Amino acid sequence: YPTEKIRNFSIIAHVDHGKSTLADRLLELTGTIKRGLGAQYLDKLQVEKERGITVKAQTATMFYNYKSKESSTSYLLNLVDTPGHVDFSYEVSRSLAACQGALLVVDAAQGVQAQTVANFYLAFESNLSIIPIINKIDQPTADPDRVKSQLKSMFDLDPSDVLLTSAKTGQGLEHVIPAVIERIPPPPGMSDSNLRMFLLDSYYDEYKGVICHVAIVDGSLRKGEKITSAATGQSYEVLDVGIMHPELRSTGFLLTGQVGYMVSGMRSTKEARVGDTLFHNKTIVEPLPGFKAAKHMVFSGLYPADGSDFEGLNNAIERLTCNDASVSVARESSTALGLGFRCGFLGLLHMDVFHQRLEQEYGTHIISTVPTVPYIFEYSDGSKVEVQNPGAFTANPKIRVVASWEPTVLATIIIPSEYVGAVITLCSERRGEQLEYSFIDSQRAFMKYRLPLREIVVDFYNELKSITSGYASFDYEDSEYVASDVVKLDVLLNGQPVDAMATIVHNLKAQRVGRELVDKLKKFIDRQMFEITIQAAVGSKVIARETISALRKNVLAKCYGGDVTRKKKLLEKQKEGKKRMKRVGVYFRI
Ligand code: GDP
Ligand code: MG
Repeated sequence: YPTEKIRNFSIIAHVDHGKSTLADRLLELTGTIKRGLGAQYLDKLQVEKERGITVKAQTATMFYNYKSKESSTSYLLNLVDTPGHVDFSYEVSRSLAACQGALLVVDAAQGVQAQTVANFYLAFESNLSIIPIINKIDQPTADPDRVKSQLKSMFDLDPSDVLLTSAKTGQGLEHVIPAVIERIPPPPGMSDSNLRMFLLDSYYDEYKGVICHVAIVDGSLRKGEKITSAATGQSYEVLDVGIMHPELRSTGFLLTGQVGYMVSGMRSTKEARVGDTLFHNKTIVEPLPGFKAAKHMVFSGLYPADGSDFEGLNNAIERLTCNDASVSVARESSTALGLGFRCGFLGLLHMDVFHQRLEQEYGTHIISTVPTVPYIFEYSDGSKVEVQNPGAFTANPKIRVVASWEPTVLATIIIPSEYVGAVITLCSERRGEQLEYSFIDSQRAFMKYRLPLREIVVDFYNELKSITSGYASFDYEDSEYVASDVVKLDVLLNGQPVDAMATIVHNLKAQRVGRELVDKLKKFIDRQMFEITIQAAVGSKVIARETISALRKNVLAKCYGGDVTRKKKLLEKQKEGKKRMKRVGVYFRI
């Protein structure tokens, strides 16, 4: 296939607007998969099926015979699937780098939502040709005209360019691929230049080893050739190369403009740097602009639930990060929880998905600590530190903290207008600053806020959903650090700080959070043989305190000399209590 006969495109949409279903239909329509093969072929992971979200971007090659009045020509189409969720916008832009166009799918009833906006701008900034598609027109509440006018007013998309489809009934689908061929330009690469290959993604396969998804920007790639990575300088022999159709199909070569896979004997996905440029040995090429490295914005401690199976957890994490290089892992230990890991994630959903995969795919049981965000502290001696783990952060008494910063996000919120008041209240409680407030049509409001990341990592989305009866749509992108007066809040049980419960909060909220923590803990902890004091403290200043009085009688005294099994049972019970205490530190959200 010469490049004029190749089209590389992707589908972008707000979650649930029908991206995966539409992708499946296109694969069926081109005979790439059999009809009715079932739900969402490209969503391979179990979590993806369950949650209906796409986590890892997948690619598939299709062949299509395009009939015009004069002739019938075969085209090679590469569909690069993208994750729909905010946490993965990094993967979205990665996938878009290999495309010249995108199908922007919008639900005919729901209209433009927060991720529609975010995805549109990602595609627009990558200079892609955008084909607007209003999907789910079979629904009784569908209102395509209203959605058309939203697309016009928000993105200046011409209503006459909009395709109307139902991925469910098949209505309108016949126009999609012809539009791809007519409106999206072929890839711009030069076939007679030296090879420049862009590394899109990689994953680990038990049998084949590291499999890289690649886009051939210039030149061509053949099995047996020697290639070098611009990022690491390492050389490899190409052991296998081919297309995803949608399973791996070895072709022995890939030509300019194609998207496919490559196996080259890399030992771990860490060698396969996403955004890297690969080229033939002994040639000199200009590396393609890489991606900015994913920044970890949410951290949490992961510990084996039963305290002993550290090795099991270690293995599972190692294997899982082989396929998700966007998680950072460092060992840590906690006095309350033992040996474990501190993991960094792109966002909250990314963290949830990782936890779920650990449990589902590796059968590990984990305890995770309350998620935290990275803060920056500056000391009186001019030095700065980034704090990812509040428990491990102990201020050096000799050098005072003179300034602190916290990360913020730019949030986009789209809601029916009657919820505007409630959302403004929520955002100001969460220390948000309103940047923009407008209406996208007579019924929907569009708001932009700067919010501290810390305020959205715990329960923001749930609360937003609940105060808007589920109608709010929300998206955010990482933004700058801003100066903020934050302090470390310690929790002490009988004077001993519990590292797993330490947290960093805004000074103005310390009192309230400390009080809530102490009250909740009091309810959770069983009475023991001894008195327990619970304190919340900032530095040496105790800001909240509760006491749990000791059980009056010594329970064991009653069975003095008596029934041994009863004694054992009581001791067991106490152990149980201790176990629960361990969890308390962990499971609460503040
Ligand atoms: P994604 O999150 O954008 O990938 O959305 P999915 O493809 O997973 O679709 C979300 C839900 O909408 C699923 O339950 C689909 O069956 C349903 N759906 C997709 N397309 C249509 C459509 O054209 N009409 C109707 N009525 N439902 C659809
Ligand atoms: Mg999907």
